[in-house]
Amino acid sequence: REYVGDILNSGKHLLSLIEDILDIARIESDKIPIEIVSTPLAGMVGDAYVLVQNHAREKSLEIIGTRITEDINLAVDPTRCLQILVNILGNAVKFTPDGGAIEVQPKIGEYGLYLSIRDTGIGIPEDAINKLGTPFEQVQNQFTKDHKGSGLGLAITQSLVGMHGGHMQITSKEGVGTTVTVCLPLVQDLHDA
Ligand code: ADP
Repeated sequence: REYVGDILNSGKHLLSLIEDILDIARIESDKIPIEIVSTPLAGMVGDAYVLVQNHAREKSLEIIGTRITEDINLAVDPTRCLQILVNILGNAVKFTPDGGAIEVQPKIGEYGLYLSIRDTGIGIPEDAINKLGTPFEQVQNQFTKDHKGSGLGLAITQSLVGMHGGHMQITSKEGVGTTVTVCLPLVQDLHDA
């Protein structure tokens, strides 16, 4: 009976790998349609949270800041924006050991909304941070050896953020944690432009 679970799991893993590769192919050939609409940040962050909450609960991780009370509207493609948030939040959950904490924090700045996702996880070695937007780059260290992943998530995330005219920044310290900040356009900036 255990085998059935294993097969199911590797099937899921393979499917997500295929989806990632298709996304990369679409991005490379400029075939990802982006449809910008006014999208409430609160709903977006709430949806991303719902998608990772089971995994977070299994690991007894505390996630704070996902209930956004400010009335902030992003000028984004909702599906792709959710993909961005789930990738980053999912990584935070994946790479934070049991009992850790994750904090989501929005801040309005000069170029739009700056959304930070900070975790108390294993961190990323300094020399590896710069390679992270590159497809198939996966950091190997003693903590991630058993981790199954394509290493495509952040490359896709970075491209999707770029398609919105935004940018992504990663700061990290090994054994302390990681902060990923994405800058995304606000609706008011869309009107100003
Ligand atoms: P995947 O998670 O599928 O391996 P990603 O592109 O999402 O691929 O991430 C690439 C690598 O970056 C991960 O394998 C991991 O080593 C590192 N990484 C990403 N996010 C974090 C994080 N929040 N904390 C620690 N390491 C991270």
